[in-house]
Amino acid sequence: MEFETVIGLEVHAQLKTRSKIFCGCSTIFGAPANTNTCPVCLGMPGVLPVLNKKVVDYSIKMALATNCTINRTNQFARKNYFYPDLPKGYQISQFELPIAEHGWIAIEAAGTDAPATNKIGLTRIHMEEDAGKLIHDEHEPQSYVDLNRTGVPLIEIVSEPDIRSPEDAAAYLKKLHAILRYLDICDGNMEEGSFRCDANISLRPVGQQELGTRTELKNMNSFRNVQRALEYEIRRQRDILLDGGDVIQETLLWDAEKNITNSMRGKEEAHDYRYFPDPDLIPVVIDEAWIERIRTMMPELPDERKTRFMSEFELPHYDAEVLTAARELADYFEAAYTKYPQAKKLSNWIMTELMRELKDKDISDCPISPENLAALLNMIDKGDISGKIAKSVFTDMLETGKDAATLVQEKGLEQMSDAGELLQLIHAILAENPVQVADYKDGKTKLMGFFVGQLMKKTKGQANPKLANELFAKELRDT
Ligand SMILES: [Zn+2]
Repeated sequence: MEFETVIGLEVHAQLKTRSKIFCGCSTIFGAPANTNTCPVCLGMPGVLPVLNKKVVDYSIKMALATNCTINRTNQFARKNYFYPDLPKGYQISQFELPIAEHGWIAIEAAGTDAPATNKIGLTRIHMEEDAGKLIHDEHEPQSYVDLNRTGVPLIEIVSEPDIRSPEDAAAYLKKLHAILRYLDICDGNMEEGSFRCDANISLRPVGQQELGTRTELKNMNSFRNVQRALEYEIRRQRDILLDGGDVIQETLLWDAEKNITNSMRGKEEAHDYRYFPDPDLIPVVIDEAWIERIRTMMPELPDERKTRFMSEFELPHYDAEVLTAARELADYFEAAYTKYPQAKKLSNWIMTELMRELKDKDISDCPISPENLAALLNMIDKGDISGKIAKSVFTDMLETGKDAATLVQEKGLEQMSDAGELLQLIHAILAENPVQVADYKDGKTKLMGFFVGQLMKKTKGQANPKLANELFAKELRDT
């Protein structure tokens, strides 16, 4: 039996405001436990929340970037549940009237090089406050709670169950992540929990309309883990269904070390959070002027920038996709391009040499400035250094942060372009290799590579290869 996978994703993105959503406490990450708190975010009785306007601004930005309808009147609601990291006994969220609904984003179809045309629907975007953090130490009998995160603003972005594969789920998440970072409203740090994802997944026989029983996956803190957890869960559910069993509706935690999911809790009957409009907060009314003001502040988004990179710089789709995936990387490319306007060569260096060295590090931490990379490439083109030497200079630039010209001078790596100097060495090589010289004259012109190779050995790669080829050809013809 063939099954179709149905995936829906819920993303919590922490907004980059300086203060919390309903009080003036700082949102900074990593402060000593419970120092960024006040009576409001501690949930003391009798305090009144006051909405941070920036949270609404940022939510409108996200709504516009994801083609959502903005609800001109939206409302905060109390989501009632008890949890030790939620001192009030309820979370202020949105329920019946979220700020935005009915949006979509486009992703590339998995495994193809086609433009982003696969639309994934967004059910809703709503604003809410984050809860605190419980700290469990397995060596201690008690747990701790840190309420610094309580009241930090979040938007929850809920997708339609439009996603059909783990690859598409990862592509969707990367696109959302990129949009949030381009908008500069979320730092996207998955390890610090600024961008968190839960997934709903079910299987159904191909052709069946009705959805199968779904499980909810939590605790996936990287794009790779999301993909692997979904792949695992597809296999697990398929095995159950093929054996004639029933998938149990439950919440599962991904264990990234063992590569399995573990049951966290069975689902209560259905959620019953007893939502009701928060009487402490009046409805949020957004007028056209507010939306227009935000619209004028919208930056170029990843898809637009990718299209522009393809037309303005004539880059292949693949290059444009890689370079515009992160705003900082695209900025880096454009800054280097102003000093070295050869897009494809520049793109190759960034995508191979630079990204290989940076690995997971952020481009903003790169010790080589865009100007210095451009200067290095200009030195290759001018013949000051060979391509091979450029790669070792590049490694030194990463280690020392110095510019290419300084390093080349310090190490005496300038290309040998003095014909007289090279000729001396060439004469010696020809004298040392009479058999190859004779073979070359008999028509084995491929031996040119051998001769140039000998010269490179003698000059430690510093001979100008173009000049070397010309000089060898002339000498071999004339002797
Ligand atoms: Zn506070």
